[in-house]
Amino acid sequence: MTTTLDPRVALSPTKLFINNEFVDAADGKVFQTENPANGQILAEVAEGGAEDIDRAVRAARAALDGLWSKFSPSDRAQLMWRLADLIRQHTDELALLESLDNGKPLMMATYVDVPLTAGHIQYNAGWVGKQTGDTLTLGVPYTPDADYLAYTRREPIGVVGQIVPWNYPLVMAALKLGPALATGNCAVLKPAEQTPLSTLRLAELIAEAGFPPGVVNIVPGLGETAGAALAAHPDVDKIAFTGSVEVGKLIVQAAIGNLKKVTLELGGKSPVIIFPDADLDAAVPGAAAAAFFNQGEVCTTGSRLFVHESLFEEVVDGVAAIASNMKIGDGLEPDTEVGPLISLDQLDRVSGYLDASRAEGATFRTGGDRVGDVGYFVQPTVVTDAGPDTRIAREEIFGPVVVASPFSTLEEIAAVANDTRFGLSAGVWTRDVSRAHRMAHLLKVGTVWVNCYQAFDASMPFGGYKESGWGREMGKEALDAYTELKSVCLML
Ligand code: NAP
Ligand code: MG
Repeated sequence: MTTTLDPRVALSPTKLFINNEFVDAADGKVFQTENPANGQILAEVAEGGAEDIDRAVRAARAALDGLWSKFSPSDRAQLMWRLADLIRQHTDELALLESLDNGKPLMMATYVDVPLTAGHIQYNAGWVGKQTGDTLTLGVPYTPDADYLAYTRREPIGVVGQIVPWNYPLVMAALKLGPALATGNCAVLKPAEQTPLSTLRLAELIAEAGFPPGVVNIVPGLGETAGAALAAHPDVDKIAFTGSVEVGKLIVQAAIGNLKKVTLELGGKSPVIIFPDADLDAAVPGAAAAAFFNQGEVCTTGSRLFVHESLFEEVVDGVAAIASNMKIGDGLEPDTEVGPLISLDQLDRVSGYLDASRAEGATFRTGGDRVGDVGYFVQPTVVTDAGPDTRIAREEIFGPVVVASPFSTLEEIAAVANDTRFGLSAGVWTRDVSRAHRMAHLLKVGTVWVNCYQAFDASMPFGGYKESGWGREMGKEALDAYTELKSVCLML
């Protein structure tokens, strides 16, 4: 039995979604999800375990071998369009769930998260039936008069497992489900234990849109049980994971059993670089937004700010002034700019970095402390004088914390920016076109934003170099990652 404890989520589903039905966990277990703004329990949610993951994988396999494979591309696309429309029609409800469960400002959930979610489904719907193969001209004439017809075709990988984090629950689900469904796969998705509610409501909309039972299954549960079972399941053909580098490596190990395909979207320690010719009226708020957007709980957070030495104090003062004026509060307050961190664990983690950095002698230009003792709020924080080898300058914090350092030349800053195990994204602020492109080419990252930051679009491939991940999501590359490529060769 699951229970909703907050009346605002009372109508929301809280059970496992398998075969288009909401069901209890096989062992009846439940876990609680809380509102990080006040620590109060929102709902008890069915806690899927290995047996439930197996049930979901079997449902997905049956759908794949059954009705789903008979759907024409246009029927498949139509369902996806309908789902995108339903998401838009339920914007207010989905945004409220997202804000309550994750803590993020309701305005952001309304104007960023939900539109991006619908947009991803819609973008991928537009690709259905448009992936093509090649016709090939064989180069080796095995017999003098032999002629061949050779071509490639794309086929669904099969049953895909998808594991997502808590920072953008709906967007992450859409990033994974969009290309999987467009290419004809069936999915088992595990949301993060901290934020199951919006994804379960999405499940209801998936059924309402008319997807056949088993095509999408949503199994909330814990990472080390449900997540691990999904990653290791011998009848899952691909696993797509977004989360930390540490868990990403566990996913790779778990996938070894049946050598399932793996794509990984992992963390970052992204540099934002401000050159002396930058438009500071845009660059200063841009750097602040890069650092503090979504409480800094974004894999692309611009957590290393590099400013040309001629502007360093001016920019740092500007970013610190913005940080200290940001309205911190409950995500449901209309003027909130910075909500709580996701959990007490995350608060402890971020506070640990701040305490260690303070002890090492770094300078806190603003912030550095928890706010209040109810909820998990941290001040937006600007740190200087943290050496390049300190933990705060090297490790992903996943909180509203930026470390600022000066630089002098382009070559120097390219090397410093690349001196990290991550390679997800970077920001460059300059009005010099050739400098912008030179920098973009030198940075070893998957996305470079010039004179903007965190401009995401369903059409733009996204993913990481180095330990930031394997493969790309978004764009047409995401669809390729959900297909097998088959060569067919006929002797004529
Ligand atoms: P996490 O611990 O890696 O969790 C991510 C997901 O993996 C959650 O659903 C989690 O389930 C699950 N999980 C945990 N242990 C698992 C295991 N042994 N086997 C299978 N699944 C497991 O990361 P997080 O703390 O939620 O999120 C913060 C991290 O994610 C940061 O490092 C951040 O950079 C990264 N991130 C990256 C991106 C990107 O696009 N590159 C986006 C967002 C976040 P439970 O939550 O139930 O434990
Ligand atoms: Mg929650």
